[in-house]
Amino acid sequence: MPVAEIVTIGTELLLGEILDTNTRFLARELRNLGIDLYRTTTIGDNEERIAGILREALCRAEIIITTGGLGPTVDDPTRQAVARALGVELEFHPELWDQIVERFQKYGRQPSENNKRQAFIPRGAIAISNPVGTAPAFICEVQDRCIICLPGVPREMEFLFQHAVMPYLKQRYQLHSVIQVRVLHTAGVGESQLDDWIGDLETWSNPTVGLLAHPGQCDIRITAKADTSEEAARMIAEMETLVRQRCGEAIFGADGETLEAILAARLKQGERRIRMVEMGLDGELCTRLRHSPLDPFCTCQVESTEDGFSPPSPEEMESRDIYYIVSLVKHLDSFSLHLEIMTCEVHRTEQRQFGGAPALVKTWAANIALDFLRRFLSE
Ligand code: AMP
Ligand code: MG
Repeated sequence: MPVAEIVTIGTELLLGEILDTNTRFLARELRNLGIDLYRTTTIGDNEERIAGILREALCRAEIIITTGGLGPTVDDPTRQAVARALGVELEFHPELWDQIVERFQKYGRQPSENNKRQAFIPRGAIAISNPVGTAPAFICEVQDRCIICLPGVPREMEFLFQHAVMPYLKQRYQLHSVIQVRVLHTAGVGESQLDDWIGDLETWSNPTVGLLAHPGQCDIRITAKADTSEEAARMIAEMETLVRQRCGEAIFGADGETLEAILAARLKQGERRIRMVEMGLDGELCTRLRHSPLDPFCTCQVESTEDGFSPPSPEEMESRDIYYIVSLVKHLDSFSLHLEIMTCEVHRTEQRQFGGAPALVKTWAANIALDFLRRFLSE
């Protein structure tokens, strides 16, 4: 299986002015093609440094994909940098120039002399015309390797990748294998607890198992590579069974499922409603519920921690209603979360401590609160 590297080019990326979304897009596309990606680099608009990175990458990877630096101005150095890395000249392509002129005319404009730079590509390169922008892209083949240069504008880059680069890669590297991913969502248990349960599975090479922690939730990602999608799905299903055996009810859903959607389904099924009271979270939980599938099954009221809240007596409660008090209290440098669920038959409480970054505490508390409710409803 070929190995790829991504090089995103643009000083604005290094200055933190824009987010590098091109790497994310390309990484996912490469994964779906079954191409291994071991490294990505971001580099400024500097011809010498770009050439250096490209020379290094050619020693490590078969496929190098660059984005950015193909504009018409002097600070768009990718064409020169590739030519320099490969020790070739830039060559004028009249057909590329015609395409650029035509594209400008379509918008009633004249290309400037600067735009002519864009019709120069390294000698021997395969030109990729760009019907969605002015910057032509190109591919330089070096023995069994290649450098593929795409524009920086995400919309253009994505279009050219899908319409020109993908067919090229599939054909040249005879790509038949597929990569499939399944994400299992857990809540209420920490990353280290999960690691204890499934650490040995995380050392597998295919399928791979990885953890991604969020406040109050943790994802388990299973990735399988195989010749057919059926085979990949079978490998994932086998691993999922193992993971579920170990993690049990900590797993609340998979892929696009959310705690809110799972809870809404349970409440609908049981014809129950939640009356929630939130304290110390500045409305975080109520706002989240209002914008979720839980909204029709839930009322949520924000109270201050000082005033407290006195729940109704069991006699006053509607038989199918669930009262839920969620209260977050700050201590010196930690937080404690008090959860209290009441129905006319049951009274359950839970206390949880949080010592992580204060900016994350409300998300953590909302997730823990929803998860406690989920566990209660699945009894
Ligand atoms: P360039 O082709 O380098 O002139 O880039 C054109 C524009 O594309 C930049 O001004 C950015 O707005 C955008 N762009 C370039 N590189 C990236 C990247 N890696 N991720 C997202 N946007 C980018
Ligand atoms: Mg640029």
